[in-house]
Amino acid sequence: MKMRAAIYHGIQDVRLEEVEIPQINSDEVLVKIKVALTCGTDRKMYLRGYHLVNPPFVFGHEFAGDIVKVGANVRNFEEGMRVVAANSAPCNKCFYCKIGRESLCKDLTFRLNGAFAEYVKIPRDIVEQNLLEIPCNIFYKEAALVEPLACVVHGIQESNIRLAQLPHFQKKCGVYGGLRVHSVTIFEECHVFMGFITSEGIPRFL
Ligand SMILES: [Zn+2]
Ligand SMILES: [Zn+2]
Repeated sequence: MKMRAAIYHGIQDVRLEEVEIPQINSDEVLVKIKVALTCGTDRKMYLRGYHLVNPPFVFGHEFAGDIVKVGANVRNFEEGMRVVAANSAPCNKCFYCKIGRESLCKDLTFRLNGAFAEYVKIPRDIVEQNLLEIPCNIFYKEAALVEPLACVVHGIQESNIRLAQLPHFQKKCGVYGGLRVHSVTIFEECHVFMGFITSEGIPRFL
């Protein structure tokens, strides 16, 4: 069975192609993609390449969707569940994992690519650690932001940044910047307006 997928072949070379739907083993899960996002890493990879990847592969790694198949050994997930996954998982064996600094894990590599396609396979370590069921009151497009949002919340907690310091840090307000401002305002229980200046010099608030 075939599916359509955006295949990354190299710098500024992404092609829409027909490829086989991924086969899963008994520890894996197959997800039908409902929403996929373009991460800053995708943009960098498209414009400049990325030394940790080996093209060709299905592009994209932030998504939310429905489980359509589960391996025989998978316990906590079943067909029909709405899910979101991070694109990596810590090894739990290296020095940094053992001291609770999993984000520095020596083996925290891109284990999951393939969001810009109809289906994506979730490997075992991500099924076990970083695959989440989406609550019924959250849209797919909101759930797909959970991994960048988690990075931002973690960064705020680690750095203890306060709202008054944001203008010094937040010169640009892309996706991460927007999430960061929004998260700090939640922590401090206050409101902030975000905006930008259009190319005609007109301020616009979001
Ligand atoms: Zn990303
Ligand atoms: Zn590790």
